[in-house]
Amino acid sequence: MSLLPPIPATRTLGASDIAISPIAWGMWRLAEDDRNAAEAARLVHAALDAGITLLDTADIYGFDGSGGFGDAEALLGEVFAAEPGLRGRMVLASKGGIMPPLPYDQSAGYLASAIDASLRRMKVDTIDLYQVHRPDILTHPQEVSRTLDDAVAAGKIRTLGVSNFTIQQVEALQHFLGHRLVSTQPEISPLRITCFENGELDQAMRLGLSVLAWSPLGGGRLLSPETARDKAVAAELDRIAKEQGVSRSVAAYGWLMAHPAGIVPIIGSQNPARIAEGVAAMGMRWTRQDWYAVLVAARGERLP
Ligand code: NAP
Repeated sequence: MSLLPPIPATRTLGASDIAISPIAWGMWRLAEDDRNAAEAARLVHAALDAGITLLDTADIYGFDGSGGFGDAEALLGEVFAAEPGLRGRMVLASKGGIMPPLPYDQSAGYLASAIDASLRRMKVDTIDLYQVHRPDILTHPQEVSRTLDDAVAAGKIRTLGVSNFTIQQVEALQHFLGHRLVSTQPEISPLRITCFENGELDQAMRLGLSVLAWSPLGGGRLLSPETARDKAVAAELDRIAKEQGVSRSVAAYGWLMAHPAGIVPIIGSQNPARIAEGVAAMGMRWTRQDWYAVLVAARGERLP
């Protein structure tokens, strides 16, 4: 039975010359559980030691509905302050443009100040990948693109990406931008498969965007499935995982990575052993039959 191509040891961030690991680690949950800088450093080391070089955060991570805005970035800043050599070992990605209690703000004044605030909190001179977290419907894409282009020109940001953008929103922003977008970050998992058929991944391949998948385990739901459909997806992944000697979560990452868009799953775990385990997905090999079997379970109906 023919196999899908193996996963390369590194991928390139969009059309940039920045190499990234084929799997990333995310810090959405880093500032939870009163984690201190030493505990946060342990997690950063777990990711880097496993060969994960793309680390994803956002200014809103830490926000709990009332406070905590900026906490995950600030905690990472403490980690860098204690061990300055760490910064150079990673491709640092962050995001901005969500401003509680407002839903979104990407007006020039706000977004420029948000970029500066992220740099200050993380105690870094530059962010390797800055992503617009969610589109602000009330700011013209020309205004957003000017702010982003200016930040690149000032050396504050190396490359630009988006998250949770529709196909048309990507087109509009790219139209006005002086730089090529290098990434998009939608929610993708074996439980969230809309991207596979709505054209988002096709657009990413056409524009050469890296695709970073958020919540690749459905936020953990894949590990404790409740509905019949979610259980069927888990069972299909378990069958393949058993054959290849990996866990269900690793099989889920591997399933995403086997897609020709070169999807980069962002591991969300804040457990060092689970972070390290994730890279085993790079060694998985998929037959078309197995890959489609997971998709069919996720669709809940056969393919036409
Ligand atoms: P996820 O991998 O889907 O879920 C991670 C959760 O699953 C953690 O709470 C983890 O708990 C739990 N889990 C339970 N069993 C696990 C196992 N065996 N292996 C791994 N995890 C297990 O990812 P996520 O945290 O929802 O999101 C991942 C990243 O995506 C975030 O950190 C962030 O960078 C990004 N993100 C982006 C957006 C956006 O709008 N752009 C939105 C959400 C997330 P433990 O920590 O105890 O392992």
